[in-house]
Amino acid sequence: PQPNPEAGAAVKAADRAHVFHSWSAQELIDPLAVAGAEGSYFWDYDGRRYLDFTSGLVYTNIGYQHPKVVAEIQEQAARMTTFAPAFAVEARSEAARLIAERTPGDLDKIFFTNGGADAVEHALRMARLHTGRPKVLSAYRSYHGGTQQAVNVTGDPRRWASDSATAGVVHFWAPFLYRSRFYAETEEQECARALEHLETTIAFEGPSTIAAVILETIPGTAGIMPPPPGYLAGVRALCDKYGIVLVLDEVMAGFGRTGTWFAADLYDVVPDLMTFAKGVNSGYVPLGGVAISAEIAATFATRPYPGGLTYSGHPLACAAAVATINVMEEEGVVENAASLGASVVGPGLRELAGRHPSVGEVRGTGMFWAVELVRDRETREPLVPYNASGEANAPMAAFAAAAKKAGLWPFVNMNRTHVVPPLNTSEAELKEGLAALDAALSVADEYVK
Ligand code: PLP
Repeated sequence: PQPNPEAGAAVKAADRAHVFHSWSAQELIDPLAVAGAEGSYFWDYDGRRYLDFTSGLVYTNIGYQHPKVVAEIQEQAARMTTFAPAFAVEARSEAARLIAERTPGDLDKIFFTNGGADAVEHALRMARLHTGRPKVLSAYRSYHGGTQQAVNVTGDPRRWASDSATAGVVHFWAPFLYRSRFYAETEEQECARALEHLETTIAFEGPSTIAAVILETIPGTAGIMPPPPGYLAGVRALCDKYGIVLVLDEVMAGFGRTGTWFAADLYDVVPDLMTFAKGVNSGYVPLGGVAISAEIAATFATRPYPGGLTYSGHPLACAAAVATINVMEEEGVVENAASLGASVVGPGLRELAGRHPSVGEVRGTGMFWAVELVRDRETREPLVPYNASGEANAPMAAFAAAAKKAGLWPFVNMNRTHVVPPLNTSEAELKEGLAALDAALSVADEYVK
């Protein structure tokens, strides 16, 4: 890429003057002006190139500017850029068919949304209408989106400003052995105690008041914590016992991220509703949705579903999904995530953990990994406190700056870095990223007690 600092300065100036950014104190941020992107890399206007270990916000599962998907979007724009949701349209029909063929069990009807949060909103509305019950149970250490109900069920500090007493949401602790709430020492104990805790929560809230349990199959933003064997099957059994709808949120974990089409495939669990977005079309055009079981679809067979969106099943977004899913099949993208995750990323991160005292734990699967940074491996004290900002967050800021200096754009959340590159990142690129992480972890090591 040719440097063009003047063009970059103009992009930056207009951004600073007029763009109001997500989740930010507007005057305390310094967004990088991005000139272009291809595959697993992007670059700025000064000619600096970064390997993207974030996949944007964990959504460019096939990397940037995949030529076949770009071409299909262009062709769909020429054929039919848009059409209202009440009609049967080729791109929408085909996207729904391809998604339904891959979703687990009998989740064969697809309600399209514009993204993940509205998929969560609709899944919970469907669950409440299907059961006639008011409440939803969700996990601490979760993220389900930025709209009202989606942020209410979220279990991280972003929810606090939008909490309201009438949200009808009760949080519980899902399993997380490394920072267990249950004094567990083994995965088996953690699983059993987390299930016992969930059943007690259901009993004390009143089973007849609970419409849904919503869980990320593998929690993403909150720390990529693959549940212990048996946990999700146990949650499924509790939902069946009490007539509660199980919603699995696969907005981040779905569409190949875990090395399987859906994370639920790893655990052999079939939810009643499953939300998706992001990887469904690599985020080239905004798209999300809810995959619906036969039983819940039947609730709305002769009774209208009270919900909809102007752009539900937007043809351009759906054409991008069709092209993305076909590319993922043709190019073995899901298989690549599974095999390079197991042969390169996992072993590479464990090797780094062996040499860097700031690494407390490495966990994940496929192209979905978390590295837990700590001040002290024995006590597991996080490298920065929960929800730290400013000076308190300096160690993580120093880690991120060192990664960028080494040519890697890292995903950073609280005291963790997540390794979540595009699923078709090559072995050589992954090794380049691991080398940059090695350098950045040496900076994190300086804060170890
Ligand atoms: N659910 C999960 C698991 C997510 O990770 C996200 C976004 O990161 C969302 C929902 C919200 O999706 P969106 O930002 O497209 O609304």
